[in-house]
Amino acid sequence: MKLAVVGGGPAGISLGWFLKGTKIESTVYEGLDDVGKKPCAWGVLRGIENYVDIPKETIYSKIRGFRIFLDNKLISEVRDEETLGYIVDKPLFLRKLGEKIDLRLNSKVVLDHGKLLVNGKPEEADKVILATGHYSLSKDVTIPALQYITDLNYDPEMVDMYFYSDLLGYGWIFPDPKGAKIGVGGYASVEFIREKMKTITSGRILTQHGARVADYGVFEDRLNGSYIGEALGTVYAVTGEGIRPSIVSSKIMADALLEDKDFGKEFRKSKLHWTLQVHASVIKRAKESNSVRGLERVLLRADPKLVVKFAMGDFGKLDLIKLFGSAIL
Ligand SMILES: Cc1cc2nc3c(=O)[nH]c(=O)nc-3n(C[C@H](O)[C@H](O)[C@H](O)COP(=O)(O)OP(=O)(O)OC[C@H]3O[C@@H](n4cnc5c(N)ncnc54)[C@H](O)[C@@H]3O)c2cc1C
Repeated sequence: MKLAVVGGGPAGISLGWFLKGTKIESTVYEGLDDVGKKPCAWGVLRGIENYVDIPKETIYSKIRGFRIFLDNKLISEVRDEETLGYIVDKPLFLRKLGEKIDLRLNSKVVLDHGKLLVNGKPEEADKVILATGHYSLSKDVTIPALQYITDLNYDPEMVDMYFYSDLLGYGWIFPDPKGAKIGVGGYASVEFIREKMKTITSGRILTQHGARVADYGVFEDRLNGSYIGEALGTVYAVTGEGIRPSIVSSKIMADALLEDKDFGKEFRKSKLHWTLQVHASVIKRAKESNSVRGLERVLLRADPKLVVKFAMGDFGKLDLIKLFGSAIL
């Protein structure tokens, strides 16, 4: 089978990587002249190494600590000997995986009545999979996120997550080879987000950029075998984590294609689907009640280790009951 994968982000590149050397011949088309250009904080949580190689030279640091702030006040801190995740040089990581697959850069795809057009020219494919990220999503299912890279001297093993009583969203300070990546994303205007950024920004700003992030959960109507990654909604809505879940969605797709199984059914059975939808329902409830009180209460009262487990999508039903009570199930 000849497969065309549209989009050279973590989802598209990893799908090509999972399928290399198999009966499925895949080509990944990326519209830009390089991979990993989309603004991102490069934090990848643990577990990913069970799916895909992370070449050593692409790891900037190992995350061992996690701090959570509410309205800029530290409310919990977890420091572990164990690795909680990685700060990965995302462009380099994607380039390294991309070297092993048929990746075509500068290849903008348009689907014209199901026909594949690459830079306006028709290409043959038996199947097309869209890994086009947030670019294929409307504004009502995504939030704006802004990020600065600054020269702040920042602990390479620590990540900080910020939550606010007046913003349905999150902020972050992650280590970066140049210093730190500092960002805020949320269900608010860009001006409001810019104001919030001022409260956590330190160091000299070297780069400013932004993009949108999905906060809706999985789009059930896109579980038809034509979508993977953020285009399918694989972003943890409470934290904005999208790299690892996008790669996991590609693994489920690769296995379904190779074993001739229904992707939608396989995906719905996965822990990924369930945990993504739990995160999404927390956000949905907050939107409906126009209040982040529920989340705030959890952050203030719960065992920090459990909060980190929830943030990482590494939770079961019992953890959820301990955090939110039975109402969430
Ligand atoms: C500011 C910010 C910080 C973030 N930080 C983190 C973080 O630290 N950790 C984390 O896990 N997640 C983070 N995320 C989310 C994460 O970046 C995404 O969820 C993840 O990259 C999704 O992967 P993807 O492959 O599905 O899509 P993308 O990475 O968006 O890749 C899609 C690709 O498709 C290409 N494309 C789109 N349309 C076409 C077309 N028609 N033809 C050809 N190519 C096309 C695009 O150019 C792009 O390269 C962050 C997001 C933002 C905005």
